[in-house]
Amino acid sequence: MPERRRSEAWFERAERVIPGGVNSPVRSFRSVGGHPYFVERGAGAYVWDADGNQLLDFVQSYGASLLGHADPVVVGAVIDAAGRGTTYGAPTGGEVLLAEAICDRVPGCEQVRLVSSGTEATMSAIRVARGATGRSRIVKFAGCYHGHSDGLLAGGGSGVATLGLADSAGVPPGSVADTLVVPYNVVPDLDAEVACVIVEPVAANMGLVPPVDGFLAGLRAACDRAGALLIFDEVITGFRLGPSGGSGWSGVTPDLWCFGKVIGGGLPVGAFGGRREVLGVLAPGGPVYQAGTLSGNPLATVAGLTVLEAVDRTRYDELSDRVGTFARRLAGALNDGFEQSAGGRPQVGGKAVEARVPVVGPLFGVTFVPSGTGPIVDFDGATAAAATGLYARFFWGMLERGIAFAPGPYEIAFPSFAHSEADFDRTIDMARDAAAEMAAASAVPTASTALAADGDGDTR
Ligand SMILES: *Cc1c(COP(=O)(O)O)cnc(C)c1O
Repeated sequence: MPERRRSEAWFERAERVIPGGVNSPVRSFRSVGGHPYFVERGAGAYVWDADGNQLLDFVQSYGASLLGHADPVVVGAVIDAAGRGTTYGAPTGGEVLLAEAICDRVPGCEQVRLVSSGTEATMSAIRVARGATGRSRIVKFAGCYHGHSDGLLAGGGSGVATLGLADSAGVPPGSVADTLVVPYNVVPDLDAEVACVIVEPVAANMGLVPPVDGFLAGLRAACDRAGALLIFDEVITGFRLGPSGGSGWSGVTPDLWCFGKVIGGGLPVGAFGGRREVLGVLAPGGPVYQAGTLSGNPLATVAGLTVLEAVDRTRYDELSDRVGTFARRLAGALNDGFEQSAGGRPQVGGKAVEARVPVVGPLFGVTFVPSGTGPIVDFDGATAAAATGLYARFFWGMLERGIAFAPGPYEIAFPSFAHSEADFDRTIDMARDAAAEMAAASAVPTASTALAADGDGDTR
């Protein structure tokens, strides 16, 4: 067990002055038990914690870091920009360059407005859709996460799912009264009250759940029939699945896009974009208000632009190929590890468990399901997998071996351009060991104890 004294000391101090000791709930480790490691620095595929432990990092700021940590070119550009001032409250060329870079790469996206987070991007895109259609109702899919604005905090994935909140306290019923939550991968019937449908083109906040054939095209057609706008929340998939993100990957063009994570190069940025005519409803030209003191921040825009310019389709395709091969090997290694243990595969509810590693482009997930389970296509499937409780054991088994995955069964892994084949090889070896240990452990949690531990929000 690596030394963790300094991280523990930081966490104890953090808990006194920061609710739960963290500034975003998933970081608290509640769903895997124990306490978080505190990061002191990162470089490329690695981070070093406060106790000096080196961790191969598959979290990568939940996807904000595409090139890896502290990429020298990005750091140089940020330092250079900081020397000229960090924010002015007047427009800068950097904002135009980032907006052009986004619009150049995403066919159909003619304009973007920059904000400071993914939450702001989705919240504002919804407001634009309502303003443009004059309708109130929005449709979202169970298990998709679109940030933490009131109207979108219904049936969320990611941290909301991990904490077992179907909704959040503090959100008045009126705020979600116009939010319809429907199952992922089923095209809903839309009526003339629907302003928009918001969807993750590849769901990445309930584990990794790809769209089934025809789902996104079906949404496009349903929106067209109903006169509703289709919003792709590409905060994860944008500039990750390729230069044109989920719309390019799927061949389906939405009316509005939401971006975040990658486009800030590790600094706080979001953006929402669409056709010129749709975004024309925004103030100052139109009646839909939206604003931000730090929107288009010069450090964030230069960091994001540097990242977008560092990669091209060939490099994305190479990374996707490498991750595709790695994901298949990882699934093999985990299941081999189970088989190699004297006790055989872990059992849950009398059924042997199998490891799965779904992969789309350079994104992958790690999930454990009872053998014979069909493909996971929606949030019900994702919650059933999480209820095996095995992800927490995988997480700790890997962390103790120097490999950091996200601390929750609904999060996915974000290999960066800095992850080498040697990094992948070591991950495979450690995963085989960790799986053998998982299988050998006598007291595998049952579905019911895992759920109870998840639900009370205080596993320790
Ligand atoms: C992370 C995320 C958001 C929210 O972005 P923040 O920057 O955390 O506010 C929205 N949508 C999706 C799909 C995300 O993964």
